[in-house]
Amino acid sequence: MSISVPSDTQRWRCTQCGNLTRFDVTRSVRSRDYLHVDLSGASRVEESEVLSETVEQVRCRWCNAVDAVEVVDRPAAEQNGAAGSGAERA
Ligand SMILES: [Zn+2]
Repeated sequence: MSISVPSDTQRWRCTQCGNLTRFDVTRSVRSRDYLHVDLSGASRVEESEVLSETVEQVRCRWCNAVDAVEVVDRPAAEQNGAAGSGAERA
């Protein structure tokens, strides 16, 4: 089963228990990182750009249902159109 990723005006909802805010998401990310190595050889990532990502599994934190999420509209999206995005993060 493939998992739909919510757009800026959508969110996930667990079809088993109705959870909207807590999910364990397993994903494959392909990224380009800027690695800054200091003179001792220790390195850290200072910038990371996601080139592509694929959601492999979503598990509900409330009821442990796996891949039981559906994509629903965010409440703000219905009132304000597509104007606001990213403000809602619980
Ligand atoms: Zn659930």
